[in-house]
Amino acid sequence: MFRNCAIESSSSIKVENQQGQEDDQTTEEMVETNSPNFVYVPERRLDLENYFNIYTIISTHLLLSMQDLINWGFPFFRKGSRVANIRPTVYNKDKKIWLKREDKMRNCCRCDLEFKLSKNGKKSLGECVHHPYRAIFDLRTCTPIHPCCGKKFGEAGCKSAKLHVFDQLFLNELEKIVMTPFENGLFDPKSLSIFGIDCEMVYTIAGPAIGRMTVVNWYGELVLDVRVNPNVKLLDANTQFSGLTSEDVKSAPDCLKSCRQKLFKLINRNSILVGHSLECDLTALRLSHIRVVDTSILFQTTKHKPSLKKLAQEYLGKSIQSDNKNNIGHDSEEDARTCIELLQHYVKNNF
Ligand SMILES: [Zn+2]
Ligand SMILES: [Zn+2]
Repeated sequence: MFRNCAIESSSSIKVENQQGQEDDQTTEEMVETNSPNFVYVPERRLDLENYFNIYTIISTHLLLSMQDLINWGFPFFRKGSRVANIRPTVYNKDKKIWLKREDKMRNCCRCDLEFKLSKNGKKSLGECVHHPYRAIFDLRTCTPIHPCCGKKFGEAGCKSAKLHVFDQLFLNELEKIVMTPFENGLFDPKSLSIFGIDCEMVYTIAGPAIGRMTVVNWYGELVLDVRVNPNVKLLDANTQFSGLTSEDVKSAPDCLKSCRQKLFKLINRNSILVGHSLECDLTALRLSHIRVVDTSILFQTTKHKPSLKKLAQEYLGKSIQSDNKNNIGHDSEEDARTCIELLQHYVKNNF
């Protein structure tokens, strides 16, 4: 995997894939960005031998395979293709997940209604009555209930929002997906890095978009926290889950590209990213990265993916996404750190 190669330009380049075959894929031009919210943690005295052992264990045993990445809906590049692909998963294979430019109908991802955009295509019409939390099976009553209000599956929603929102994407967004840049020489320190990452999503007129990206290192220390303005009309800041207000999103200093470039100052193609349902984060970042550990898959014991909140309670004995410091929504720093802690727990108990 290690190759001596400087950061590439945005043109098509030859790379080696996991099977060692040559492949045409795209990467992104690196440009200098001002990084007001880019936090470099001072180098600490690492137990390098222990760290290297852990890195080797994770690299050898816990990364998702290429087939896993494809099956779980991660962005990937087919051999010879310059445009990324994202396959449907068992969860969304019956849904329309891609939109053509002329499509006016959308499916609301909160209340499941099909709705039409207003004539100028700018607004989602109609009140959105929904349950913030999907129904889960309740062992006491043996029925699926919504944890937000305790109502049974199929009963009227307990929350109302002004607009419907959707998580479908336009097909041409696939063309915007890039690969993580190559390592910069044999001894690029980024190659041995392991980072926890979490992104908060907001809803826009063009579908879901990233509103915040947070990265923590192996020690759970915050190394990068970026607020992102999607630069298209915002429908809903998704505050309950994103922890972001409309004002936070509109005043955010970064765009998707500058956010990604800040990430590329930390990682290269060999770095390991750890997240929970990481395919959503990578899709939102328009990024194909193939060395990943996904805690929603690593700890999966039934056909449904476990929530990060449930795993944190069960394996770490800690409560997240409820009593965090701002108490208005998920905190991506807390979620990213929890993913790292879960992986540490897994390594400690299985190797
Ligand atoms: Zn709705
Ligand atoms: Zn409810």
